Amino acid sequence: MHDQIHAYRANHEWFLESQMSQTTHDLVVMFKEKLKRRKPRGKASEPDVNGVNSLQKDVSMRSEESEPRRSFTDPVRTSIDSMSHSNRPGSRDPNSNFQADRATRSSSEWRRDALTTLARNMDMNMQAPQYRRQRQALLRTEQSEAWYAKAKSAASQSELEAGKIIVKVREHERRDPNLFGNLPSEAVPDVQSRDMGGRFLVNLDRINMSAICAIAQRMPKGAHQHLHFNSEIPPDVLFPHARSPDVQDTMFIRSTVPLTGPENFRDCEIVFNVFPKYMISADCFSPSYNPNAKDPNNCPWMLWRVFREAFPERMAPAGPDNLDAAERWARSKMVISVEHTYGDRTTHNSSWACFNQSTRAFKGLVGYEGVYRWYIGHAIDSMIKDKVMYAELRPMLLDKAIPSNDGLRKLDLKEQMSIICEEIVKKRKELEARNELDKFPFGIKIIYCTPRSIPLAKMKTELEDCIQLKLQFPDLICGFDLVGAEDRPNCIKFYADLLLAFQQTCKELDISIPFMFHAGETLIDTGGSSDPENSNLYDSLLLNAKRIGHGYALLKHPHLVEKYKQQNICLELCPISNELLHLCGNAREHPYPQLLAAGLHCTLNADNPSLFRGASTVSSSLSYEFYQVMVGDPRMNIHGWKQLAEWSLEHSCLSSEEIYHAKAIYAREWEAFCQWVVDEYGGYVSTLDDLP
Ligand SMILES: [Zn+2]
Repeated sequence: MHDQIHAYRANHEWFLESQMSQTTHDLVVMFKEKLKRRKPRGKASEPDVNGVNSLQKDVSMRSEESEPRRSFTDPVRTSIDSMSHSNRPGSRDPNSNFQADRATRSSSEWRRDALTTLARNMDMNMQAPQYRRQRQALLRTEQSEAWYAKAKSAASQSELEAGKIIVKVREHERRDPNLFGNLPSEAVPDVQSRDMGGRFLVNLDRINMSAICAIAQRMPKGAHQHLHFNSEIPPDVLFPHARSPDVQDTMFIRSTVPLTGPENFRDCEIVFNVFPKYMISADCFSPSYNPNAKDPNNCPWMLWRVFREAFPERMAPAGPDNLDAAERWARSKMVISVEHTYGDRTTHNSSWACFNQSTRAFKGLVGYEGVYRWYIGHAIDSMIKDKVMYAELRPMLLDKAIPSNDGLRKLDLKEQMSIICEEIVKKRKELEARNELDKFPFGIKIIYCTPRSIPLAKMKTELEDCIQLKLQFPDLICGFDLVGAEDRPNCIKFYADLLLAFQQTCKELDISIPFMFHAGETLIDTGGSSDPENSNLYDSLLLNAKRIGHGYALLKHPHLVEKYKQQNICLELCPISNELLHLCGNAREHPYPQLLAAGLHCTLNADNPSLFRGASTVSSSLSYEFYQVMVGDPRMNIHGWKQLAEWSLEHSCLSSEEIYHAKAIYAREWEAFCQWVVDEYGGYVSTLDDLP
């Protein structure tokens, strides 16, 4: 071990020597000469102070001119290092003269001299001004190259002031024991404290008390690019619709097992659907209940009204007062809970399986005529409250029809898209009448989604349907996406030939349906196979995607990072979704700072907010995402917020004229927001101490 240390130190000395500039090397030689001329050993206990001091001055003056990276190689320091380990057999010694001089002195004298020299250098601290200048220059360069530099350079006075306020409030909230207060210390943090930027659902009650969250709710967000259609409205809002007179005799529920014991209540999956009222109702609570939905001779559906009446109260978890026992139980299967999300046995795969079960339950509660029509206006109102001015929604369009309220008719895709268009126009007129059209001036557009799990033949018909819808609703259909867990088949490559043909057809028809694939929403990034070369990130690039959903795994591919930047592919980041589906532990572990620092254009998105928001019915889908990135990295600031929002408009499917118009509205809203922050929080912040 001792020999290993010697060998390391010798190599280290050689390295330092080899890193010196010629100028520094000359100084070392000069220093050695000065040391040789010192008083004879034993006549004075002090080293040649004058010689060392004059050398120090030489070093200081000349190192100003030398290359900054090398100026830290201090000949005095090098000499002291050499003093501390001489007489090592086999060690390489670049200062042989100095070493010889050392041989004439005792070890204790050398050690004392070394400490004296160190103490003098610490007192004089001659390198410090230069070091500080270099450090400032380093910081200024990094700031000028930051991904939000453009927004910062254009910032108004109120934006600069608001930015300082937000940072100060954030750092005080981090320390405030009533909000977070879980700080590094020798003492184990109090169990009541929370870790700012820690687990989202654990922190949600504190987040809702936070001034940063209140500021995020007020912030103009621009466009919402990644929002799944069935997952926008929480169950607390959907269940009152499902028991309304419109569907009280036609809304049915199905379970995957008979509900005969606590385990079955806990483990079953449930789905909803609307059927004609004359359909025979099953009994999910009977031991003889047959859940098989594929058997044409079996009906596994139970009328939801009857189910609710028969539901055993003891099986109901706590929940909102406006829901009955059955609704609270069903809700617990649809909303991702703290217990499940952060449980010991929870994994990315188990989270995905639960997530898929939840989305299947939502589907029947949103997918019928009455709610489908009501949903559009409600979603727009919700987005306006969240300060979103435009959205591109992602409905799953594999199932081609939804039922009417009475279950007697089926509404095909054309009728569904017509409903969306009608409701957009209706909402537009409402906003115009209130002189509020600038709050949501462009309506919504639709990204056609289909699962990546379907066979090739089915994908072929999906692409046909997408083109048909685009021709019928040219202003509504704006993109095509493949969705589903990426660690399961199929990868995008599997469909590449069909997707290329689709692209060529769009070109020949002079229509635009850009790809916006879910890609890189995975930790293993192998496209549902064992082969990393099946990563969907390759095919998203080659198929010229306009944006990709998530892109979480992109940093594994430095070459692709550069290519994505060259092709201006935007990443629709969904930090809360990624945490709750176990890609990362919390916002601080999410790679958004690195993706942004790499120069990639990104936006923030809620993905499936009604599953991810716990008990919240507040319209704050995107506000929470902006809050999370603000507390997840101390380098995030108000200019970063603005840049993310501006990219959401620039990378949207609006026309260039609409984007120009949108950015003008946004600039006005942004300035009003910054002034509001100053007016609302400026006085409060002036009472807060400056933090170290
Ligand atoms: Zn998604």
